[in-house]
Amino acid sequence: MNAPLIIQKPLQRQYLREQEGTNSALISICEIFGPTIQGEGALIGMPTVFVRSGGCDYRCSWCDTGYAVLPKFEDQWQMMDAQSIFNEIEKLSKGHPLWVTLSGGNPAMHDFEALIRLGQSKGYQFSMETQASISKPWFSLLDQLTLSPKPPSTGMSFKIRGLERCLEACQSDLCEIDGDHQVDVSLKFVVADESDVKWAKAIADQYPNIPSFIQPCNTQASLEGFEGDVIHESSANDCDNKDKDQQRLLWLIEAIQTLHWHKVRVLPQLHRWLWGDQAGV
Ligand code: SF4
Repeated sequence: MNAPLIIQKPLQRQYLREQEGTNSALISICEIFGPTIQGEGALIGMPTVFVRSGGCDYRCSWCDTGYAVLPKFEDQWQMMDAQSIFNEIEKLSKGHPLWVTLSGGNPAMHDFEALIRLGQSKGYQFSMETQASISKPWFSLLDQLTLSPKPPSTGMSFKIRGLERCLEACQSDLCEIDGDHQVDVSLKFVVADESDVKWAKAIADQYPNIPSFIQPCNTQASLEGFEGDVIHESSANDCDNKDKDQQRLLWLIEAIQTLHWHKVRVLPQLHRWLWGDQAGV
């Protein structure tokens, strides 16, 4: 596996805001790394390069990517255009096309149309995960979209209209290259307790034709934890954490069975099992 590329070029905040105002093609990038594997959801196990954008409209209590959310990390993000981002993807993948996962933060805050078009013209496929709070016409260009509504335990309030808009955006006529192009959409629920599981089932039941995935949240993470100086700590070899993760998974299997929820797929966070909370893998 290639060493992760973590872009930490400091930039003046004023400069960033000026660029955001004048050039929508520039995207705030937190990190680009890989190839690694997708650790969650419909593409679990698939080789991928991650492009993590900076900035999020949510503040989930157990967020484990605070470094891509909180303004205190803005100086470590870099404004990049589509060609520069794609150059990094090509460098990491050594020119061999694979999945590119757009993540965040909330990548839906940005404009990835040019990057997706550029990458797809070279044989790359694009996947994205978002909490379904913001929709964009370019969603219809994606090959795969994971909509991950945030449950009550996050402290965020979910609006079904936001999810509906994201689904509608997947049907936008922006994708004129291939009239048969379809976005492979799935729902992913990350849950902390029984109330979250019931809430997730109620949403999934409204979309019986969309595959649903569910996983326990990382109870060792908190957005507050990113307010301190220590940003990442690896727990890859921490047997206690692995035991806890296993117990949480067993709890979740029991919880869905109690609800007779048989149309959902229970998954671990595979990357956590392999690398703990290490960033850049
Ligand atoms: S968990 Fe996701 S949606 Fe919530 S604050 Fe973190 S990056 Fe944003």
